[in-house]
Amino acid sequence: MTTQAKRVAIVTGGGSGIGLAIAEKFTQAGIETIIVGRDANKLKNAKEKLGEHCYPMTCDLSDLKSIPSFIDDVIKKFGQIDILVNNAGINMKKEFQDVTDEDFQKVITTNLTAVFAISREVVKQMLTQKSGSIINISSMAAQYGLPKVIAYSASKTAIDGMTRAMAVELSPKGIRVNAIAPGFIITEMTDKALNSDPERKAKVFNRTPMGYMGQTSDIGDAALFLAGDAAKYITGVVLPVDGGNSIGF
Ligand code: NDP
Repeated sequence: MTTQAKRVAIVTGGGSGIGLAIAEKFTQAGIETIIVGRDANKLKNAKEKLGEHCYPMTCDLSDLKSIPSFIDDVIKKFGQIDILVNNAGINMKKEFQDVTDEDFQKVITTNLTAVFAISREVVKQMLTQKSGSIINISSMAAQYGLPKVIAYSASKTAIDGMTRAMAVELSPKGIRVNAIAPGFIITEMTDKALNSDPERKAKVFNRTPMGYMGQTSDIGDAALFLAGDAAKYITGVVLPVDGGNSIGF
């Protein structure tokens, strides 16, 4: 029996929701998985659930200056980075005219600028390895217009563009870059957003051909696929995992 070479992944926001499900699939596949978030307790609980291949590390990614030293620490501890999943994200639901510049910037910093900054630092390492897989978590908000989430929509649409631009530049150097666009997945984030807005909830179900919301594990399965050799000829795609929501009538 051949033993599979060691693989190291970083999953930002791996302590909860979709990130936790991705980290669970990775650890089950024997990938050494670093989960990142601001809340040490949340990460500790995730570590208890995920076991020996899970390594919690706290970092506030919106503090951009802390990212290079954070990635240096990871490289010192693990020696390599093979997979980066940019999953950490925040949302803010407000009427367009009530969104302040600070509100807008806060979402952009976490959902976009931090994704750029951590990817840049990780890519420096992946270039020395001449291989790597980066997966960005996008959203339906980049597939069509969603009201009351202006900064979130701007950030996720930029993520799709950045995914393609990174893919054309980095794929010749052995680094594949893809995105997953989750449809409506059951997490705390969507619980809050939909339960307080029955009209929005009805709309979600009406335009989802499969007729039900997704599980976080559906995104975990897609991430595990895109991270590994089964997807070795796939780069630059934005893969909807959405029960057909993005093509629904
Ligand atoms: P959660 O709120 O459960 O998870 C978000 C995670 O991001 C948390 O673990 C949080 O950890 C982490 N995070 C947030 N800000 C920071 C920060 N500044 N630094 C480090 N970590 C941070 O949400 P979901 O699981 O629902 O969302 C995950 C991703 O999926 C997001 O990018 C979201 O936009 C996207 N998505 C979700 C959909 C859904 O239906 N749920 C649909 C489409 C996209 P902590 O609090 O410890 O910092």
